Amino acid sequence: MRYRPFGANGTRVSAITLRLSEPSPLRAKEVEALIGAALATGVNSFLIDAASPDLLQGAAKAFATVDRRNLFLGWRLREQTSALSREIIERMMTLVVESLGVDDLDLVLINDPQGAQLPPDAALALKALKGRRAIRDLGVASRSSIDPDLLAPGLFTALASPFNLSSGWAERDRIRAVAAQGLAVMGEDVWPQSLREAAATPQTPRPSLWRRRSDPLADVGGYDFLNHTPGWSAQEICLAYALTEPVLATVQITAESPAQIQRLAQVVERELPDGVSAQIELARFSAQERERAATRL
Ligand code: C2E
Ligand code: C2E
Repeated sequence: MRYRPFGANGTRVSAITLRLSEPSPLRAKEVEALIGAALATGVNSFLIDAASPDLLQGAAKAFATVDRRNLFLGWRLREQTSALSREIIERMMTLVVESLGVDDLDLVLINDPQGAQLPPDAALALKALKGRRAIRDLGVASRSSIDPDLLAPGLFTALASPFNLSSGWAERDRIRAVAAQGLAVMGEDVWPQSLREAAATPQTPRPSLWRRRSDPLADVGGYDFLNHTPGWSAQEICLAYALTEPVLATVQITAESPAQIQRLAQVVERELPDGVSAQIELARFSAQERERAATRL
């Protein structure tokens, strides 16, 4: 496993974060085994994205086997930000203490408020928890642009943003600008739905006779290589690519079995094969060109 600094406060997180979410078919024992397998590969960063009793029970048992100081624990508040209140935040902390068995969280992520402020009583409650170090970093999870005043030095110190090999310049610029401000950035959606679907229905390569020889992009336009790179699955290539982005402190993954987490953790130690990075750039370039052509029509 590799570790990277999470923002300016010196915390070190594993390059991958295991996101624990619902709907999950896993019972408490299986959650415990999954987290145990992640810990064994060196993963120290976990994001609770659903507070189901099974999930919390399994997680509590697994976390109890490790010194709390060696864990980076995040919690995703799924409530709409406009509805955030002191009660919701207090309820979260009660679950953290009583069900997860820890006193504090390293990161709390909330939805992009689409404005410069949080509801005042929620902001006060979060400030108080940060003040007594029950929450270390507070992050905004967003897929679009964020009001700069919201990220002005103060309450927020982290961002969770999609990043994957089909990310356009807007997404890339956004995470770089935020990282330059000193915020920690967590990558997510590293294996996006569109590429997952493409991997599930691989296309038969067209015979070369069908291609226009004059078209410089005819051979390179697609993401077919995701399914044709020996020794690599599409998901592994997508993860390895996200790990090459230096501004990401860590990237979220999900896994359903110890074997899957072991396979994904190994990707952290692997280099993308020669040529794959070039194929990714060409596929992105072709996609951009197609998009541009479509908007010209
Ligand atoms: P919402 O759940 O109220 O989320 C509002 C905005 O918060 C989202 O706007 C996005 O910018 C941010 N956000 C929420 N959850 C996440 C997250 O896990 N990661 C990141 N990076 N940002 C997050 P957006 O993307 O325009 O979505 C608008 C609405 O569309 C969402 O409202 C939700 O109702 C739905 N939606 C979007 N993506 C998903 C998804 O992957 N799954 C589900 N179930 N609903 C989604
Ligand atoms: P999910 O709802 O099952 O969505 C799985 C994946 O489908 C998402 O992975 C994302 O790649 C894609 N997706 C689904 N709906 C949308 C959408 O409206 N916009 C975009 N840009 N992508 C979409 P991802 O982003 O890693 O999210 C994982 C899970 O986190 C989602 O599973 C959902 O449970 C939750 N989530 C993410 N974003 C939101 C959100 O904005 N609102 C809510 N309520 N849940 C979200």
